[in-house]
Amino acid sequence: MARLTVITGPSGVGKGTLVSRLLERHGQIWLSVSATTRAPRAGEVDGESYFFLSREAFERQVRAGGFLEWAEFAGNLYGTPRRPVEQHLEQGRPVLLEIELEGARQVRRTFPAGFQLFIKPPSFAELERRIRGRGTDSDGAISKRLDRARVELAAEGEFDAVLVNGDLQLALAELERLMQLDARQQKGPPSGRP
Ligand code: ADP
Ligand code: 5GP
Repeated sequence: MARLTVITGPSGVGKGTLVSRLLERHGQIWLSVSATTRAPRAGEVDGESYFFLSREAFERQVRAGGFLEWAEFAGNLYGTPRRPVEQHLEQGRPVLLEIELEGARQVRRTFPAGFQLFIKPPSFAELERRIRGRGTDSDGAISKRLDRARVELAAEGEFDAVLVNGDLQLALAELERLMQLDARQQKGPPSGRP
């Protein structure tokens, strides 16, 4: 697989769901933990879901050159800490970034050999159903995210590949194919068979 993969797609399309299934099946992949000024959602753990920073602390990191890329999304700042990405690439680990469009564009310039994948919903109505059904965002946040989704969906042509997340199992299989991962190479309990 490409050493650095970027996954982008509108909020609520199912990126987080697909990525967590992928990581369960392919333990060698290292997922970058981003920093954000967004407030934690219920169940999100600092240092695991994100590094939750104040705007001031985030901006300090920007000035110190600590981010590989960063962008504002729906009123909050998000960025990829640079050093851990470089360290994992140096160790030969495949690295995955799950970031929005502006960040993907920045990484395209710094890592032109990286693989950039866009995930889209079967329809805009389904995207809206998913983002509302997730139940994590206020009406105001949902409307900002849906506005941004229209911009992101218009940019799918910039990406190396586009994946429609309709049926989750089919999408996961397609994701493995696009990332050139062996579908049999799974982490998990041994089957007991020789
Ligand atoms: P993102 O990380 O892109 O913002 P999430 O992974 O949080 O999106 O998914 C948004 C919602 O859509 C969640 O409630 C999730 O369970 C649901 N979802 C994800 N993939 C699918 C799918 N293929 N079919 C139906 N619902 C899905
Ligand atoms: P959420 O608030 O739903 O977790 O994320 C909102 C958006 O920010 C998503 O599109 C997600 O991919 C993106 N995002 C998460 N981390 C980063 C990051 O480090 N950089 C950039 N540019 N976008 C990010």
